[in-house]
Formats: sequence, structure tokens, C-alpha cells
Amino acid sequence: MKNILTIATGGTISCEPSADGLIPALSGETIISLVPELKTVCRISCLELVQLDSSNLTPSDWVKMAKAVAENYDEYDGFVITHGTDTMAYSAAALHEMLRQLEKPVIFTGAQLPIEAPKTDAKDNVYDAFLAACSSVPGVFLAFNHNIHDGAYVKKTHSEDFIGFSSVNAPVAGKVENGAITWQKEYLDRHSENHFTPHYDLCEKVFLLKLLPGLSPKIIETLGALGYRGIIIEGFGAGGVPTDEGKNDFLPAIKKAIADEMTIICTTQCQNNGTHLDKYPIGILAARCGAISGENATCELLTACLMLALAEKNSPAEIRNFIADRLANPMQL
Ligand code: ASP
Repeated sequence: MKNILTIATGGTISCEPSADGLIPALSGETIISLVPELKTVCRISCLELVQLDSSNLTPSDWVKMAKAVAENYDEYDGFVITHGTDTMAYSAAALHEMLRQLEKPVIFTGAQLPIEAPKTDAKDNVYDAFLAACSSVPGVFLAFNHNIHDGAYVKKTHSEDFIGFSSVNAPVAGKVENGAITWQKEYLDRHSENHFTPHYDLCEKVFLLKLLPGLSPKIIETLGALGYRGIIIEGFGAGGVPTDEGKNDFLPAIKKAIADEMTIICTTQCQNNGTHLDKYPIGILAARCGAISGENATCELLTACLMLALAEKNSPAEIRNFIADRLANPMQL
């Protein structure tokens, strides 16, 4: 039997009602005890890491999660992280970036309803997460509603429906049916080229700027003055920024920010089909000013990638190359 470590972090799955609404209360140990069928699947140990609503998690908690995996890496065949759904896609993207050359499965899961609630989705999600953790398919994944999503592509798309998450610009990595996972072929062939290497340094001075029609470009300078070193600009449609001189032209602000060694990524507010800066002047001119294309990546993956690049790389060219390499193939371990 495989040995799997559960890392509990809170979330609705662990919640009990209180006067202020649902609050995380159950330990990882209790969650596992409520899914007795797991006894036939694997041997399970539990680590109670934090007990929080996931909106209260910060990048320092991603570091704790990454360290919990790395410090127990040799003892276990796989890892299940129970987590609130609200920021689970951010944590999954962050661990995908931080746990490089992963040779084992790390599976996030949670639920839309507490595990003790009638008709909860929690038990199925937990069961599926352990199946994935025992699968030997390496990488960071998110198990939800019988789907196994790649941590590099996943996004929370439903605030209440059991479906919860979608794989964005990629097929679902695996599907659970009749107690078995059918994986996409590329995941069955997946293996890391080098030994597992965790990276813990993150630069948190990253801002996600959602454009509104008419927004003033002065916001870029203000963010620079506040010490932000990287901005992900979520533009409209194919991506890009307003360029009309005499109105709210973003190009001079972007040029100035890049000259001051800020990293600017342009992405899209559209969930599907990615960023295409080569299509219209609004994108072509932004790219000529030095903005990097967010390609097909989610804002969750861009956040993690930018935080890591800014912490680990020194020159603007190194930062740009690091990001471009990661975004060229987000599936790489
Ligand atoms: N607010 C909860 C959380 O993210 C929601 C959930 O877990 O579904 O922690």
C-alpha cells in the first residue's frame, strides 16, 4: 500500500457553523476518518498545517505548504492538501511553480459543502484526491467533482455548484469513473528530467490590474511608487492596453515603468483562448514597449510565475526569459 501524507489547511471542507457563518474547525485526521473507504486505498498520515478560510492564506502559507511537501518528500509516495476552494487555484499554481521537477503527485482538494453536511461533495472529492495521490503521476493537481485538473491550468469558476473548477485553455488532466482515473496520455508519459528541487523565494510586490474602459494610466506610476515590481495588466479581449493619444494612453506609462525595471505582463479578462498581442495595435504597441504576453496562462499561474521570477532572477532580461520559458509550456514540471 502507498503512503500518503495529508496536509490540512482549513476551508469549507473542514467547516462547522458558528454565529459568524462557517468556520474551519475539523482536523485533517477527522476529515480522513469520515471517509472510511480510504482504508482500502492507502496508508494515511496527517499534518495539521493551518486552519484558515483560504481567503486568509498568503504567499507565506504557500511556502509552508511547499516546505511540508519537501520536508516529507522521501517518506511518502504522494501528498493530499485539503484547502478552501476560494484561493485553491492560486495555491495550486504557486506549488506548481515552487515544487520544480516534482516526481510525485501533490493533490489539492476541498469542497463546496462541509464534510459533515448532508449531501456533501467533500467525501467524493477527498476519495478522488487519494486515488490521484496514489497514481504515481507526477505534478500538482486539483481533484474536484470527479475531475483531476492540472495545477498549472485550473481556475475556480463556480462559487457554489459542485463543479467548482475548470481547466482553462487545456483539457482536464484526468477523469474519475467507477473508482479509477483515466488520465490524458501526456500525463501518463510525464516525468521530470532532474531531481526534485523546491524553490521558496517569492517576491510579493506583484499587482493584478484589471482594466476598465477609461481607467487612467497614472495607476501604473502609483503602483511603482508603492514599490510594486511587477504588474499583470488584465486587458480586454485578445489583450493589450488603451493607446489613444490624448485620452488614457497607457503606452508612455508602460515604457517608463519598464525603463524603471518594472516587469509588465499583458493578459486578458477573457477566461478562454488566451492572449494575442500580435493582433491589434493595442497589443502590438504594448509588446513593442516591452510588455510580456501572458499567453494562455491563468492569472493564478501568472501571479506565481512572476513572484518567483522577481525573487530569483536579477536582470530584466533574465526575468523575461524565465517567464517566457515557463509560459511556453506551463505543463513542464
Ligand atoms: N471560503 C471557503 C474557503 O475558501 C470556501 C470553500 O472552501 O469552499 O476557505
